[in-house]
Amino acid sequence: MSKRYTITAALPYTNGPIHIGHLAGVYVPADIYSRYLRLTGNDVAFICGSDEHGVPITIKAKKEGVTPQDIVDKYHAIIKQSFIDFGITFDNYSRTSAKIHHDTAQEFFKTLYDKNEFVEEVTEQLYDAEANQFLADRFVTGTCPKCGNEEAYGDQCESCGSSLNATDLINPKSAITGNVPTLKETKHWFLPLNKHEDFLREWILKGHKKDWKPNVYGQVKSWIDDGLRPRAVTRDLDWGIPVPVEGGEGKVLYVWFDAPIGYISATKEWAAREGKNWEDYWKDEDTKLVHFIGKDNIVFHCIIFPSMLKAEGSYILPDNVPANEFLNLEGQKLSTSKNWAVWLPDYLIDFPNQQDVLRYALTANAPESKDNDFTWKDFQARNNNELVAIFGNFINRVVVLTNKYYDGIIPEPSDYSTIDEETLAAVKAYPAVISSSIERYRFREASQELMNLARLGNKYLADEEPWKTFKTDEARTKTVMFVALQIASALAVLSEPFLPFTSEKLKNILNVNDNNWEDISSKDILIPANHQIGKGELLFSKIEDAQIEAQLEKLIASKKANEAANKAVEPQKDEITFDDFTKLDLRVGTILEAEKMPKTKKLLVLKVDTGIDTRTIVSGIAESFSPEDVIGKRVTVLVNLAPRALRGVESQGMILMTEDEGGNLVFVNPDIDAVKNGLQIS
Ligand SMILES: [Zn+2]
Repeated sequence: MSKRYTITAALPYTNGPIHIGHLAGVYVPADIYSRYLRLTGNDVAFICGSDEHGVPITIKAKKEGVTPQDIVDKYHAIIKQSFIDFGITFDNYSRTSAKIHHDTAQEFFKTLYDKNEFVEEVTEQLYDAEANQFLADRFVTGTCPKCGNEEAYGDQCESCGSSLNATDLINPKSAITGNVPTLKETKHWFLPLNKHEDFLREWILKGHKKDWKPNVYGQVKSWIDDGLRPRAVTRDLDWGIPVPVEGGEGKVLYVWFDAPIGYISATKEWAAREGKNWEDYWKDEDTKLVHFIGKDNIVFHCIIFPSMLKAEGSYILPDNVPANEFLNLEGQKLSTSKNWAVWLPDYLIDFPNQQDVLRYALTANAPESKDNDFTWKDFQARNNNELVAIFGNFINRVVVLTNKYYDGIIPEPSDYSTIDEETLAAVKAYPAVISSSIERYRFREASQELMNLARLGNKYLADEEPWKTFKTDEARTKTVMFVALQIASALAVLSEPFLPFTSEKLKNILNVNDNNWEDISSKDILIPANHQIGKGELLFSKIEDAQIEAQLEKLIASKKANEAANKAVEPQKDEITFDDFTKLDLRVGTILEAEKMPKTKKLLVLKVDTGIDTRTIVSGIAESFSPEDVIGKRVTVLVNLAPRALRGVESQGMILMTEDEGGNLVFVNPDIDAVKNGLQIS
């Protein structure tokens, strides 16, 4: 029943590294699926690459004073390495700046152009005269006409998810100069999505009602019901793939037109390298095409790209688009710009060689049907309570006991007991159970079934207690260890899609590598008697509370930095007269003594030399400063503030403070020491 599959994973956008949200939403499920298909004997092309065009990259380049090519080269390398590090088994990881992609995308455009599949239109577009540039997409911001979000982009409102045209925005503003843009005529090519509405209704709304995920189906339906409109596929921009027809000078293909074609060009590149025919993977009806994406890409993969493929005419359509919802981090939306994320390169520094732990935690808690939350506590619990306590514990016992009792040589079993037979039958049932979940794109369910198999092994050993029977019943002990080793061998194979590094280690320890997925159900013996296994090696290790606290502290630091960066400057207060100002008597002073106000958190009681006198001032700075920190500090004091009692201590004045970027209090004081106490500030 071998079948040909083309599996694509969303092309990561090269304006930053990737984080756990990308891994959970797209790459881990796509990798589980691809590994599983290969293990079950299918012909798989697992395809991805860097998405290197579009406006955000040019904006980032401008900000950093480098070229767009510098930006994409940098992040392509970082992203590609992360995928290798986390065991994502792409057959090809390409990039959209590759020549083969430029050629393929231009050819695709040219075919649709020649078939009159585009509508050509001269429209008025927003234009920034100072920057001498049209303002497509992210070059313009303004108020969303649908939800009123004041920071919507020219192509999309991130608040309500609406897809927009730049001219839809209310109060548009150029992201380059901040100017109010003018309108200027320009010619563009549009894909008339409305023309494909009947086909989309028939193909998705009727044809995939049962097998597409409800979140995907629902979003597609609401898009179609909302009415499809022509969508521009070209842009006035100089970074991208030139429009290859007359009148296309100075224009490039819209990044969302060229990016999905990247799946095709990456397949071509791979096929040429491997001596295969790429068309088998894109044009043969027997090939199953599956796109793994996040929910923000549903419209592009379910409406726009299929309309492009349909218009071209020679391509197959996706069989499924199992888009995931979003993963949040500790209760907040993951955000690249706010640095609210766990970046994959950072994870590997803090948790070296623990890729499988993250893969497992993200799969066990995958945002498959609704947004989900990643918490470090859950991560720790998945590791300590499942991977260490169940999976790792079972394997460790089996390997250690086999080495201890039999020098690592698998013993001959005697007759099986009923328990043995039931246990082995249960093991044989697992491939079908896990397959069924994977084939329905229920990876979290599948990962839990895998853990159930490890539980079965753990329970079997706990019930049969070979460490007790070893002294009393040699034959029984050998049989139990033999059965346990069969379970361990099944785990070595069935864990591969989920825990590839662990599976590899386990196969090495057991010294077996010749079982496939089917064998777990069909073979009676997965690892034979008299076979020599290797020494034990811990598969997982406990993650301590201190490691988790360190991660939480990192996030708190991010949050503080964000709050400081986003802190709005207070608007100016009402105007005052000079006389108003001269009423304030401000003096330079020095703190002579300081102590904590008993039973309070915030208050310090200070003795301050104001030049006029030495007086007591109660100040709410104890959370930022200890008494030792402030003794000897030069300060600015408002000396004629009416005294007031705080916790029974009379405070005679006020010390002037402000805050630094991290929200910490800072003294306002003269910038040289040679200023005498008591001098007036005016
Ligand atoms: Zn909106």
